[in-house]
Amino acid sequence: AAPGGGRGVRGLSASAPRATVMAAWVIDSYGPNEVLRFTENAPFPAIRYPNEVIVKVLSAGLNPIDLSMRGGYGAATLRMRRDPLNVNRSGGEFPLILGRDVSGVVMECGLSVTCFRPGDKVSLKPGSLSHPEAAAVPYVASTAWSTLVNSAGLNKDNCSKKRVLIIGASGGVGTFAIQMVKAWGGHVTAVCSQNAEGLVRGLGADHVVDYATGAVDIKLKTLDKFDLILDSVGGDTERWAPGLLKPWAGARYITLVTPFLRNTDALGVADGMMQSALTIATKALKHFSKGVHYRWGFFAPSGPALDEVREMVDAGQIRPVVEQQFSFSQVPQAFLKLEKGHARGKVVVSVD
Ligand code: NDP
Repeated sequence: AAPGGGRGVRGLSASAPRATVMAAWVIDSYGPNEVLRFTENAPFPAIRYPNEVIVKVLSAGLNPIDLSMRGGYGAATLRMRRDPLNVNRSGGEFPLILGRDVSGVVMECGLSVTCFRPGDKVSLKPGSLSHPEAAAVPYVASTAWSTLVNSAGLNKDNCSKKRVLIIGASGGVGTFAIQMVKAWGGHVTAVCSQNAEGLVRGLGADHVVDYATGAVDIKLKTLDKFDLILDSVGGDTERWAPGLLKPWAGARYITLVTPFLRNTDALGVADGMMQSALTIATKALKHFSKGVHYRWGFFAPSGPALDEVREMVDAGQIRPVVEQQFSFSQVPQAFLKLEKGHARGKVVVSVD
């Protein structure tokens, strides 16, 4: 193996021989949990572009999308990103390593990387969190942030007394959204199962509505109307939730459960995007005529947003909720836990 210093990268140990393989859980086809395979011979990644870094993963957080992608969800979009000209054979993405949330240490940096150095704990990790706690942050905190800030237009200066309804409050995104709105002075009504009431109240929710004992829409209709609804459950909620908003007051219903990737999987990237655009335009128009705004919320990667999240974490305003930790040998069990649903925060795998 080439020594680190001679490859156009800055590494932790420029003189040490570079590893060529590493341990990983991979899949060789899409399917149920049995497709997960452990190997000690996954190729060690190389820096391909000068703006890339290589991170030694110490902890990894799991998200519902990792589960869906194990089954092939988003495969068309993934394939297009890796192989835009479609020159490789189908299945060329395998063996594939799933997952997106990590906390670890920067090992190597491409030459144009200026804000990270080998040895940095990423992504620049809140000092007050352990690696397993930090791995529970990026994807869900970025999603909550992009939905509240970019899609809903909220921030610490304009959120005071805003009435926010969070549906799916006990999950990964919901637990962050509650804390962000509370840190900015808003009023939170959380919809969750009764046995999650203690958790969401502990995170700051002002009012809790149990959906599991039925007629949640009727219970919510008895409350004052809302300025914002963040829906991370979707399905039937979309039918009744927009009616809980203040009409003609700029109020917004934002759902995270969108058909975006499902459309591209079923119809291909171009037709799928067209279908999604048509769906969102039709729904937005229908709700606009009733005086409320309808939007789709998305995860949006953003360094500045994560910097603000880090500051809020270190200031004690928000914290990740780690429901259960698994060891690296227990990755299939971690996926099974996720698959059972009823999340109360995050599932995390410790790699070291
Ligand atoms: P989680 O699995 O962590 O949380 C879902 C939570 O919702 C659980 O606590 C569950 O607990 C609760 N729940 C289930 N049914 C209801 C219901 N009817 N009413 C209220 N609560 C309910 O998921 P995440 O928070 O990570 O993500 C939520 C959704 O958002 C997922 O579908 C995910 O795919 C999507 N998402 C979309 C993104 C995008 O870019 N569009 C980005 C991130 C997430 P219990 O069943 O016990 O009540």
